[in-house]
Amino acid sequence: MELIYRSTRNSNETATASQAILKGLANEGGLFVPDEIPALDVSIEELAKMNYQQVAYEVMKLMFTDFTEDELKHCISSAYDKKFDTPAIAPLVKKAGAYYLELFHGSTIAFKDMALSILPYLLTTSAKKNGVQNEIVILTATSGDTGKAALAGFADVPGTKIIVFYPKHGVSPIQEKQMVTQKGDNTFVVGITGNFDDAQTGVKKMFSDKALAEYMDKKGYQFSSANSINIGRLVPQMVYYVYAYTRLVADGTIKAGDKINVVVPTGNFGNILAAYYAKEMGLPIAKFICASNDNKVLYDFFKTGTYDRNREFILTTSPSMDILISSNLERLIYKIAGNDAVKNSALMKKLVSEGVYTITDEMKAKLDEFAGGYATEAETAATIRKVYESDDYIMDTHTAVAATVYEKYVEETGDKTPTVIASTASPYKFTRSVMNAIDTSYDAKTDFELVDELNKLSGVKVPQAIEDIRSAAVLHDTVCDKEDMLKEVKKFLNI
Ligand SMILES: *Cc1c(COP(=O)(O)O)cnc(C)c1O
Repeated sequence: MELIYRSTRNSNETATASQAILKGLANEGGLFVPDEIPALDVSIEELAKMNYQQVAYEVMKLMFTDFTEDELKHCISSAYDKKFDTPAIAPLVKKAGAYYLELFHGSTIAFKDMALSILPYLLTTSAKKNGVQNEIVILTATSGDTGKAALAGFADVPGTKIIVFYPKHGVSPIQEKQMVTQKGDNTFVVGITGNFDDAQTGVKKMFSDKALAEYMDKKGYQFSSANSINIGRLVPQMVYYVYAYTRLVADGTIKAGDKINVVVPTGNFGNILAAYYAKEMGLPIAKFICASNDNKVLYDFFKTGTYDRNREFILTTSPSMDILISSNLERLIYKIAGNDAVKNSALMKKLVSEGVYTITDEMKAKLDEFAGGYATEAETAATIRKVYESDDYIMDTHTAVAATVYEKYVEETGDKTPTVIASTASPYKFTRSVMNAIDTSYDAKTDFELVDELNKLSGVKVPQAIEDIRSAAVLHDTVCDKEDMLKEVKKFLNI
């Protein structure tokens, strides 16, 4: 049976999976959500015997029902190949009383690769299926990691162009270097004078501009999104939760049906929502522990039922989580509002006009599987140092936010459920913050000296992604005001 996707802001707007992937965002700023999440139709025991690619097929075939088996298997095998530095794709590592699901073994060493290595294949397949003639322009706002992963995924993909906006002063030096050295004639990278929310707001505005869409169509272009609002990113992220659970079954840590908890370092709420969808598919997850840094808007939301973005935006050492508007939360709000687009739209309107909304008690009662937590900068650094000293394991700053929140959660609840922590970036991506956490005297060294020091301490090979940028030339140096994003898009497309 065909799975239908529906806009969170207008229940009359529907799409097939491939149409939803192509469009990215629904009209009026809505997000596409599946009418239902089908149950897994193979047993946990069978899944435990499969490799990553096979598990991916079993999950994706249920969500992307208008793709043929051949199409989907082609997308999966093209994405999850030698670009990853381990055949496990997403290894599960037991350290310091938890299971770290390492999602950073792809080409840009952050978890965004898990979805962005397959999205270009899903998108070009969707274009073919729907007879699209226009060239597809991927428009992306990034807090650092999405941008590079999307650029790497789409570079030189025929029939596509990609434009990435990032906050000029809101990403790590290595993140910026990775982006501005991106090769490919179809790539365009722009720093904006503003923060991530400004970049995301500017991109959303262009998406929902009908006149612009018509103009683009006349010129042979149409926008699509590589941001985590695209269902083509969310669904591939469900896969690794199923994979992680079934690895724990395979090695005898748990029995099929036993519950686990997951801890997710959260920004735009995409990764944790994918875990929630995986549960709806039948994965036994007890708690979703949502970890925030000092920008703890989600922590406050889970505690009080009020989402309030009217606060200072704080730059932290976990920049990919420096976000005050968590776009994918809308999908959860829609769900707990009883799949009611009118109620959801009213709340989202309030978020735009007043920067704040409060859910009803009835809605809040449906959030009891979620636990919010946050970690300060000092706590995050202390966790990195502590786990390095106790377990000889060096984690990145985002993962350390999650590990800290997990530790606090266990202290408060005594909950002993086996727990998977989403490890979202390689420590090599945030080398300076990671090394400073271990010893502040490292701060005197250059970025690449620190890479070599990290290599000495951890014994983990320097990833190819880092070797690649040691000597790479800067190919993108455009910086614009946040008001001028559209101008830059038009300039690049020559329209
Ligand atoms: C994007 C990102 C996050 C946040 O993920 P969301 O899906 O936006 O919640 C966390 N850690 C790292 C390293 C990231 O790149």
